[in-house]
Amino acid sequence: MSLNEPYDRDNIFAKIIRGEMACVKLYETDDVLAFMDVFPQSKGHCLVVHKNTEATNLFDMTTAGLAEIIGAVQKVAAAVKGGMKPDGVRIAQFNGAPAGQTVYHLHFHIIPVYDGEPLGQHGAGGPTAAEALEPIAAAIRAAL
Ligand code: AMP
Repeated sequence: MSLNEPYDRDNIFAKIIRGEMACVKLYETDDVLAFMDVFPQSKGHCLVVHKNTEATNLFDMTTAGLAEIIGAVQKVAAAVKGGMKPDGVRIAQFNGAPAGQTVYHLHFHIIPVYDGEPLGQHGAGGPTAAEALEPIAAAIRAAL
């Protein structure tokens, strides 16, 4: 998908935001939602989206909306840091398929990095079941 495609209201994250698809939720306000990535690149990999937008990518988003989402990214990343005790935390965001974007609702990745543990490849690997993500999510939620 190019950088200028119109927003698809049936993308996976739109369905999660509307409650039509399940997610392992970490944090939610009227404006933002954070949940576990089901194809995690590391233990604790999670995502933050804005709930009240039809922004496909960074370029479509208002500055005010970006401020809200990045504030939530900082809060949830701090909880990942506290709950998972990683050695580093990567924040990532992709715009357009050539850049690696696979879901076309603006989102930020929070990816904890552990010494000696290589990250999984973006967009590869198998899904992790909700039951396996839940205890990880519980540790992150406890640090919020
Ligand atoms: P991106 O490739 O930057 O668009 O990121 C999309 C992310 O969403 C990937 O890391 C996927 O693993 C993740 N993902 C895809 N489907 C789901 C889902 N149903 N629930 C949670 N994460 C998902």
